[in-house]
Amino acid sequence: MTAPAVVSALTVDVEDYFQVQALADTVPRAAWEDMPRRVEKNTERLLAAFDRAGVHATFFVLGWVAERHPALIRRIVAGGHELASHGHGHERVDRLGPAGFRADIRRTRRRLEDTGGVAVVGYRAPTFSLNAATPWAFAILAEEGHRYSSSVYPVQHDLYGTPGAPRFPYRPDAGLLWEIPMTTLRTLGRNLPCSGGGWFRVLPYPAFRLALRRFHQAHAAPGVFYTHPWEIDPGQPRLAVRNRLSRFRHYVNLSRTAGRLERLLEDFAWDRMDRVFAGVLGEDGGNPASRRQFTTSAAAGGRTPASASAGRPADAASGGPGHTGR
Ligand SMILES: [Zn+2]
Repeated sequence: MTAPAVVSALTVDVEDYFQVQALADTVPRAAWEDMPRRVEKNTERLLAAFDRAGVHATFFVLGWVAERHPALIRRIVAGGHELASHGHGHERVDRLGPAGFRADIRRTRRRLEDTGGVAVVGYRAPTFSLNAATPWAFAILAEEGHRYSSSVYPVQHDLYGTPGAPRFPYRPDAGLLWEIPMTTLRTLGRNLPCSGGGWFRVLPYPAFRLALRRFHQAHAAPGVFYTHPWEIDPGQPRLAVRNRLSRFRHYVNLSRTAGRLERLLEDFAWDRMDRVFAGVLGEDGGNPASRRQFTTSAAAGGRTPASASAGRPADAASGGPGHTGR
């Protein structure tokens, strides 16, 4: 008998090429409105690739993007994907402060739910900026109706990362909210990033595939992969990025990412976050603040029922893994 394949979570942070943290000095917020936007076309390409592969994903969308591309939001929902929040304008949580953070996530969730006609329960912080400086953020997320966050990256990095954070799903402060951290591979006493993003473009594809296989073999737990629409767009305008490291990180291998993604979709089993981690999130019946009635046509046509597949909660205290099976 063969072991059931581990189903991992496929996620997309829906933002445009000029909104990433590393380019914040190059394109100030005030200039965003004048930039040629490519996010809708690029997200459409991802939707088409996921459709061909027969997989569903979670799309963490900026409120800023949803305001300008409502039809894209409805297409994401109609495709059977999970709609989730990436905050409004890609501002770091540690810079927003508690009141600003609450206003940001409330505004975004309302916009996404009103446009997509489905409940939004997932959140990913811009630049993985939930960290030791934002201990208040998890409670605010729960109060504002979210059931999970996927915002902690337990690695060492100059722009983000919380190296000592748990590597598997846990409930911060024993609250209602689950944090589902980005995937890392524990090697030689260090957590190596194994979640996609820039590393997926820098490393040769077989190296990334090997790392994710190792993770699955070691823990039989779902991984969390993330990408961005701009990462498959070699035709995006080249910006005059002064910082060489930022320039390299943003532009390296853009022309190869789409092909690598197609291989990744073939080589592993994928699904949306809320289904992959249904065993974790469903444990206590969910967050009462999340509940809301939807009657729009998008809801009727697009919402697919949560399947029974998936993970059990991790033993956060011992740092043990969650498991999944199909
Ligand atoms: Zn982002």
